[in-house]
Parts: sequence; C-alpha cells; structure tokens
Amino acid sequence: MKKTYLGVPREEIPWYPHINADLCTLCGACKEFCPNDVFEAGVECMLVKNPMNCVVACDKCAAECPIAAISFPDKAQLLKWVEEAKSKKGTT
Ligand code: SF4
Ligand code: SF4
Repeated sequence: MKKTYLGVPREEIPWYPHINADLCTLCGACKEFCPNDVFEAGVECMLVKNPMNCVVACDKCAAECPIAAISFPDKAQLLKWVEEAKSKKGTT
C-alpha cells in the first residue's frame, strides 16, 4: 500500500535527514540506529541513499550523531508542506 502522511502521499513530502558533510566523521552511528535503510556510507561522509524510506516527522537519528551533523526541516515547515499538498488537491 502507498505510504501517506496525514493523507498526503509520502513522496510529496521532502522530509528526510540532511548531513553536514564538513562535520560527518563516517562513524556509522546513524546507519546502525535507523532500521529503514536510509543511510549509506559514502567515501567522505554518510549519504542519504533512500530519503523516502525515512519516516515523516521522525528525527531520532539526529540525537545519535555525536557531532550534531544531522538536521531536519522544522515541524512548522512540515505542516506547511502538508497543507500545501492538500490545498493543491482541493482537499482542505
Ligand atoms: S529520522 Fe528516523 S526514520 Fe528517518 S533516518 Fe532518522 S531514524 Fe531513520
Ligand atoms: S552519526 Fe553523524 S558523524 Fe556518524 S556517520 Fe552519521 S552523520 Fe556522520
């Protein structure tokens, strides 16, 4: 079944981790922590290989990063995306 978040198709919501490549030490903690196959080790830093596997509104891996290299959009932005997607479809 197609994944949705508050009635909006998952692929319409750009929620996933962002990694600061200048900070990342490739320690692997984020990849080890997340069960959803989101991350893949790159040559110089961790990569977000499967962004759409990230669970919308989850930000738990950020706390696992020892040097705070992982960030997410803020939750107000998330609600804005949901509202925009719904109004495009005329469902609000
Ligand atoms: S936010 Fe949650 S689902 Fe997304 S990558 Fe991090 S731990 Fe995995
Ligand atoms: S936990 Fe942080 S430092 Fe470690 S691989 Fe992930 S992003 Fe890089």
